[in-house]
Amino acid sequence: MIVAEQLTKYYGDRAAVTGIDFTIRDGEVVGLLGLNGAGKTTILKILSGLLLPTSGRVTVAGLSMAEQPEQARARIGFLPEQPPLYPEMTVNGYLQFVAHIKSFTGDIDAAITEATAAADLSHVRDHVIATLSNGFQRRVGIAQAIIHKPALILLDEPTSGLDPVQVVQMRDLIRGLRGKNTIMLSSHNLHEIKEVCDRILVIKDGQIAAEGTEAELGKRVTTATKLSVEVRAAAGAFREAMAKAKNVAHFEINTEKDGVTTATVELAKDCREELAKTLVDAGFGLRRFERIELELESIFLELTRKEVQS
Ligand code: ATP
Repeated sequence: MIVAEQLTKYYGDRAAVTGIDFTIRDGEVVGLLGLNGAGKTTILKILSGLLLPTSGRVTVAGLSMAEQPEQARARIGFLPEQPPLYPEMTVNGYLQFVAHIKSFTGDIDAAITEATAAADLSHVRDHVIATLSNGFQRRVGIAQAIIHKPALILLDEPTSGLDPVQVVQMRDLIRGLRGKNTIMLSSHNLHEIKEVCDRILVIKDGQIAAEGTEAELGKRVTTATKLSVEVRAAAGAFREAMAKAKNVAHFEINTEKDGVTTATVELAKDCREELAKTLVDAGFGLRRFERIELELESIFLELTRKEVQS
């Protein structure tokens, strides 16, 4: 659906995005994850055709954004961070206006009915936009992005400024769009990206620091195995056993109560069977021996830290 090749954008002499390449397949939901100023908005604006790259190429559904910009843009719906609303208009009036300026040639009333239903706005179609809550105004922003039935939807920080209930509703709305559309959204909210996206592009200083699913990103940042362990043994005995065990990079006793010790153990390589045997051979009752999966938050911190070091 999208092919971006060597995208670079300078604002004056300031590089916001440098040499980015990526491909988004039809039907994928892809998240751009990055800190403030990483370049997410710049990438989305270039993909939407709002901003010209300083160099590089974007192709949307096989159409070159540089050579066939109108045809390419007709296939894209964009929700900017600040939705371009006219507060004095009704939802219905505004969506009619948007359909006209997007040169939508189909049945406008039917398209508005469909877009307002998808954005859960049917009951406020006749309301003036200024009287709607922030969350509902964002939904109007989504409705304007999908009114012309685009194949590709770009959402810039779709949940920014929303309260927790509205955040959940917005996520449900995005989930409702998946399957029918290809979606790319930006966020600096790790939880959100994890909840909604199939794949993540981690953006750092205008470049792709890493890409993949949460699990794939996790594998990239560490080869170590972290375990949560609970044994029926005194903390001192456990400590001694750990000191003798092979490949234990680090361990930490968390609690000791009623002859039971809990600890976190980090192995330099995945030799879990060997460690389990060591604990059992030491006469400890093994109550828990569980791998701790790396959360997206620590993956993200690790990836961005690595970039800083390199
Ligand atoms: P945020 O999460 O804060 O919205 P972002 O990841 O979307 O950040 P961008 O808005 O793309 O980041 O900005 C990338 C870099 O380009 C930043 O250093 C920003 O200051 C700079 N920048 C963005 N727009 C302009 C502009 N119009 N003129 C000059 N510099 C700009």
